[in-house]
Amino acid sequence: MSKATEKIRVASPDERYGKADAAWRKSAIRKTVRARLGEMAPGYERCMYCGESRGTSVDHFEPVARNPLRTFDWLNHLLACTTCNSHEKREQFPVDEDGNPLLIDPTAEDPFDHLRLTLTLGVYRSRTPKGQATINVFGLNKPGLVKGRMHARKVVTSALRDWGRAHERDRADEMLEHVQTVQDQPMADVCQSMLREALSPGADVVFSESLDLLVLLRREDLRSALLR
Ligand SMILES: [Zn+2]
Repeated sequence: MSKATEKIRVASPDERYGKADAAWRKSAIRKTVRARLGEMAPGYERCMYCGESRGTSVDHFEPVARNPLRTFDWLNHLLACTTCNSHEKREQFPVDEDGNPLLIDPTAEDPFDHLRLTLTLGVYRSRTPKGQATINVFGLNKPGLVKGRMHARKVVTSALRDWGRAHERDRADEMLEHVQTVQDQPMADVCQSMLREALSPGADVVFSESLDLLVLLRREDLRSALLR
């Protein structure tokens, strides 16, 4: 990738974008990057932005048109679905008044520092301006995604309770199956959020109607199985 970047760097600034765009389209590197990202994506190669649809293409977090020199930068590649890549984000890359990016960079930042998922509603609230810009650009609170998160919460809750019952009966094979169910779910952010909320100071309030679930979410053995 550094060789490919070098070829773009030697072009004049005006020609860099055209060169970078053409090089990316025909490069075999694209397929390799796509395959690696697929292995790293949650569940069945889910989109790294919405977590719902299958990731089908490599998105340049910082658009090639804005910074051609990051076309072949591994840390600028994310697996995205067609909706997030081509319909929501497109070439958008908002910056603040000092020129700093306003989108959360998931390769460098923890999205939960900027966003909070209200589990009962499936809706994201922003903690920071970056969180708000990310919600807007990716349409994170679209009705389809909100419904999907509420459904994911039900599936995860049910699988975790099944895990608890299998644990009582000492059925390791079944426990593994229930963990797999959670991991194969779209919208991995829902389970991640549940695991975090369970350790937060307000957990007793968030899980007031499902304290059995809170006990499960705080179990070290279950947490490490889910986070593996
Ligand atoms: Zn997506």
